[in-house]
Amino acid sequence: MIVVLLGPPGAGKGTQGERVAAALGVPKISTGDVIRDAMKAATPMGLAAKSYYDRGDLVPDNVILGIMKDALSAPAQAKGVVLDGVVRTVPQAEGLNAVLADLGRHLDLVMLFKIEDEALVARLSARTVCDACQSPFTGRSPGELHAECLKSPKGHLMRRKDDEPSAVRNRLHVYEHQTAPVIAWYRAHDQHIAEIDALGTFDEVRTRALQAVGKG
Ligand code: AMP
Repeated sequence: MIVVLLGPPGAGKGTQGERVAAALGVPKISTGDVIRDAMKAATPMGLAAKSYYDRGDLVPDNVILGIMKDALSAPAQAKGVVLDGVVRTVPQAEGLNAVLADLGRHLDLVMLFKIEDEALVARLSARTVCDACQSPFTGRSPGELHAECLKSPKGHLMRRKDDEPSAVRNRLHVYEHQTAPVIAWYRAHDQHIAEIDALGTFDEVRTRALQAVGKG
């Protein structure tokens, strides 16, 4: 099953996407994680993406289309994949459909995480992430060792540069102007969209997300 996760920053796509991917027995790809790894390793793509990323702007579509092609052609994705934050503009939605068509595959489901802006700003300003495995946390402090980290050496918790208030405001603006039109585009192309109410406890939202893929 190939699933695209859509929704504003902080809606829980990454965290719930992990659970959805585990329930389906498929990997999850996050373009945000790919970009953060590339910036950490200072690859040419990472260096080119950094200024966009730090401001909370979208990196150019051609960079994302390159990541999509590489990721979707990998044998690990044969059974399916959960795509987290991979589609954020209409050209990316078109590009994904074209890449999938070339591979003789198609998108099964779009999951749309819905939540109000005030809840997102509160969530993102309380978020820390592991600098090694990128797991997100709420209510844990920067600098703390991530004792459960599966990477070696274990990571420490840090704030994401793009979770600073000015970048968060910009990311919400970018979502409204560049990503929200993707929803209309999918509707116009008769793509099945499952809307998930993303406000609630982690378990409540997980139950809704799993139900949407028939694993509730
Ligand atoms: P995320 O971790 O999904 O919140 O993504 C963090 C940042 O990575 C975004 O604010 C963008 O700068 C960049 N990014 C991730 N995915 C995409 C995408 N599909 N298109 C453009 N930029 C992206």
